[in-house]
Parts: sequence; structure tokens; C-alpha cells
Amino acid sequence: MNQMPCAVCGGDAGFFLKNPASARIFYRCAGCGYIFAAPEERRLSGEEERSFFKGQWEQSPDGGNVGCYPHILSLAQSCGISPVKALDFGCGNAGLIRTLRANGIPAYGIDRVPVENDMRPFVFSDFSGLPAIKFDLITAIEVFEHLPDPVAVLEELLARLSPDGFLFMTTALTNRAMAHIKYFPHWIYQKDPTHIGFFAERTMEFLARKHGLELQVFGYGDFILDRSHTRLVVQYEGRFVFHHQEKWEMNY
Ligand SMILES: [Zn+2]
Repeated sequence: MNQMPCAVCGGDAGFFLKNPASARIFYRCAGCGYIFAAPEERRLSGEEERSFFKGQWEQSPDGGNVGCYPHILSLAQSCGISPVKALDFGCGNAGLIRTLRANGIPAYGIDRVPVENDMRPFVFSDFSGLPAIKFDLITAIEVFEHLPDPVAVLEELLARLSPDGFLFMTTALTNRAMAHIKYFPHWIYQKDPTHIGFFAERTMEFLARKHGLELQVFGYGDFILDRSHTRLVVQYEGRFVFHHQEKWEMNY
């Protein structure tokens, strides 16, 4: 199939490339730049996903994304609310929840894979288990590249965000991670079998417009979306390791 509806903007996404080794096929939206794996591709089963992430957690028991924790804590302090209530969507082994709670911030998490440590009372498998409160700080660290329905999740998170709160997310942006999109086949981020969606900065600009958010760019790869004091901060994570050359069927 040469055309697919874009999962972000609904526009036409054309065939982008096919990996002959894994048989993964990707589509790229001409409108918003979103790149996504073919929906019919064989996704990891729940059990496979569980063992994939458990393996990651065992390698990194404090959480694999500790580098952004100080930034998140400073965002929490800049909310001007005390105590800030926090939600970490896709919290993994709850390393961030532990860090936030150690700093006096009541933090909760959502993850499909059950956490098996002392943070378990604060982690739920979906939104329905959460306390019925608005959160001043919502984080989604390296989560959105895993989602088949990123817009629905973003809207759910915005609905849970307090009027003066922050939504902080990280995902590697294609236009910042690569000097040219032609390097996509060699991008390690794309080789993770659980990564199915890849955002460009203009994909985020589309989401900002759609939700009435104002986009501001600051610093290297950080930008803020602002809607009536509600801010969505997206941080680019610099992960652009190139592997050996492979022959891919590609249309760019
Ligand atoms: Zn699109």
C-alpha cells in the first residue's frame, strides 16, 4: 500500500521506506512530517513488551532517563504551587516518581507494565485508577514514539493538566536528530522494535495549532507550547548513532 492516513494530522502519508532485514515498512506524512511504522506490522505482544522493558529496567534500576530529572524538578519548582502534584505517563520502573517523592512532590504514574518495587502503590495501569485530581506537572519521557494513537493520549494528558501546569515530554525529533532524513534507515532510535512513531518539529507545531497552544522555542532542542498558562515542553534527546550501511528501499 502506498498511502496511509497520518495518525497525527489525518493527511496522506506516503510510502517512505522498507527495511529488507526486518520487513518493517514506514510511511511519512507530507503535511506534518510524522513518520510511522505500518499499522499492520507485527507488534510485540504484551509478554514480549514486558520482557523487553524489564530487561531495560534491570540494566538501569534508577530509571534510564535520569539526565532529565533535574530539568523536571526545576520545572516543578517553577510552577509556583506547593506541593506540585505530578503524573509520569509511561513511568517504567518509577525512577522519576521516586525522585519526585524524595523531593516532596506527590507523584503518581501510569504504565502498562506493572512496576515491582515500593513505588507500586502510586502506579496504575491506566487513567481510571488515578486520583480524580488535576496535575501540575505531567511527564512523558521517551513514551510518544511508542504510541499508535499519540493524539488521543496527548488529549487525555492535557485534560488531566491543571491550568497552570506543565506537560514535559521527550522524544527524538527527526529534523534535529539527523542532518538529513535520508539517514533515517541508520538511526538507532528507529531500530528499536518498540518505536513506531517519529515526530518532526513541524509535527509538534501541528499539535500546538490543533490544541490552541502557542509554540515557543528556547535553548537547544527545547520548546514550549503555551495555552492559557498551560505549557507543553518537548525536549529533544540527542540520540543519533549511525550503524553500518544497509540497502533500504526508500522514497524521500
Ligand atoms: Zn500528518
